Amino acid sequence: MVAAVPADPRSFEVDLPPGGAPLITPRQPIAPAPPPSRRPAPPPLPRPTLAPAAAPPSQTQVVDDAAPTAAPEKKGRIIGIDLGTTNSAAAVVKEGKPFIIPSREGYNTIPSVVALNERAKIIVGHQAKGQLLINPRSTVYGFKRLVGRQFKSPVVTDLTGRFSYEIVSGLRGEAAVKLGDKIYSLQKISSLVLGEVKDLAERWLGEQVTRAVITVPAYYNDNQRQAVRAAGALAGLEVERILNEPTAAAIAFAHGRSLEERILVYDLGGGTFDTSVLQLHGSVYEVISTGGDTFLGGVDFDREVVNELLVRFKKKHGVDFAGDRVAYQRITDAAERAKIALSERLTTQINVPFVAMVGDKPCDVDETVTRGDLEKLTAALVERTLRVCDETLTNCGLKPSDVGEVLLVGGQSRMPLVRAKIKEFFGKEPSKAVHPDEAVALGAALLADSIQTGEIGGIVLMDVLPMSIGVGLPGGRFKKIVERNTALPHRKVHSVWTSQDQQKMLEIPIFQGENEKAQQNEYLGTLVVADLPPGHKGNVVFDVIFNITAESLLTVTAEERGTARTVTATFSTQDNPESVRRRLANSPDAAIYGPPSEEEGGGLFGWVKRMFQ
Ligand code: AMP
Repeated sequence: MVAAVPADPRSFEVDLPPGGAPLITPRQPIAPAPPPSRRPAPPPLPRPTLAPAAAPPSQTQVVDDAAPTAAPEKKGRIIGIDLGTTNSAAAVVKEGKPFIIPSREGYNTIPSVVALNERAKIIVGHQAKGQLLINPRSTVYGFKRLVGRQFKSPVVTDLTGRFSYEIVSGLRGEAAVKLGDKIYSLQKISSLVLGEVKDLAERWLGEQVTRAVITVPAYYNDNQRQAVRAAGALAGLEVERILNEPTAAAIAFAHGRSLEERILVYDLGGGTFDTSVLQLHGSVYEVISTGGDTFLGGVDFDREVVNELLVRFKKKHGVDFAGDRVAYQRITDAAERAKIALSERLTTQINVPFVAMVGDKPCDVDETVTRGDLEKLTAALVERTLRVCDETLTNCGLKPSDVGEVLLVGGQSRMPLVRAKIKEFFGKEPSKAVHPDEAVALGAALLADSIQTGEIGGIVLMDVLPMSIGVGLPGGRFKKIVERNTALPHRKVHSVWTSQDQQKMLEIPIFQGENEKAQQNEYLGTLVVADLPPGHKGNVVFDVIFNITAESLLTVTAEERGTARTVTATFSTQDNPESVRRRLANSPDAAIYGPPSEEEGGGLFGWVKRMFQ
């Protein structure tokens, strides 16, 4: 066998002037130029929005989520943490074997739930989940779907009404949650779960734990990855590596088995669906293609059952269900339990007493649901996962029959319909070799051990970029600079040049995604290069360098072509088109991409309209 060679991190391509005009924004510096660019430490990033983020109500206190400036002292073993949508798990390698660290209650996972109890104390895990039904407004669950996202983003807008707790705008315009009279950023909430896991690990191991490998969906974008890193730091953990969940499952499957095989990991958890195709060469794990849907998971299956129960409620009582959040949460909880029961049985009874009043009569939900009913309600969701598998394979030129083993991971993959459809699609039974709830944490622990011991012949990971990264262009178009599925780490140079004489500054908005409209993709930040040297239009050229680490984390820098001059540039992840617009409003030479046309409204808002529709 020939071991695959990792992509040369030094290799790069130069993009010479393209057909489309480069995106260079001339304007005056607004503030003293900061030191040469490196991406500032997280928090998560705002996404483009044309309306200012709603400021939190003034009497509300925002809980500090600044990470400690000093990294924790590197002590003890590195643990592996699966920070899941529904449950989280931790594992550690002892004497060469990975073990799951049990919760205080003796379970192998802890619920990813944070709550404020009646004594105004923050509680985490099983205790927090325990109060979900009695106090849903103060109980935060499913936050993995929200972390690293902007409050005004369509994604968060869509999710806002679906959770029983209050989602608000944080200080940076990011999605945050309100518990009592305090606002918590989602990285703070994530850090509370990570802190609980750290605490469990310390008790179990009897030693301090300060380092971890933390897993994320392969399909997480840069903002989401940065937010998880920040959450680790807040919990007092040095994040040694952000690891993709399917890759972690592949490690748990193949470690120590010297396999030479192509596998597909199908990871259907509580809130996200992820798939990766990997080529295994002994201890080398080469990801060749990855795909997913961060909005497809067990909660969507639950929602289909809830909707069916509400339809039946209306049929029976002649009126729409009009219960409160607590009643709705009780129905959701019963629907999930029924869904899980139907993985073992063919029929189940759902009984939720006194959920709503019809006239002056209290009414129940009391229904029989069969496995057939559930399969009819959720067949389209399972089909969606297979479409993603198909795309992931097509993207690397493979067919389902080219896959040697299919690993099923994530609680929702236990559904018999999923197994049946996988068998139909791939023409073979999925593997039973990994535990769907534990594989990710065990794989993370194995990588953690490999990092810790630094052994030659240890685990070698070769991952790919899950979604393309590129720049915004005039007219709101998106130009991909690094294509998805590019082997990581990767460095690419994109050239831009001035569009006006004596231009003083340039500004390059950066996005991640596949849509040809920039606004439909995830906004990552804006690179600002200040203090341009004097020169005619087109004569000042910059190389904008996109550096993407093995963990899919992006750094952007700019270098002036052909000079030894130090360039001042920042990649501001705190910026968004609104703040750019506001700054432009105070700037006399506020032209960008040339003057906007009349139908775009002209003036400052014209370019914003052109760029972001
Ligand atoms: P995870 O994020 O991997 O912990 O997966 C949690 C999701 O799996 C939740 O939506 C659960 O309802 C779902 N789940 C757990 N066990 C089962 C089961 N036996 N059958 C179907 N779904 C399940």
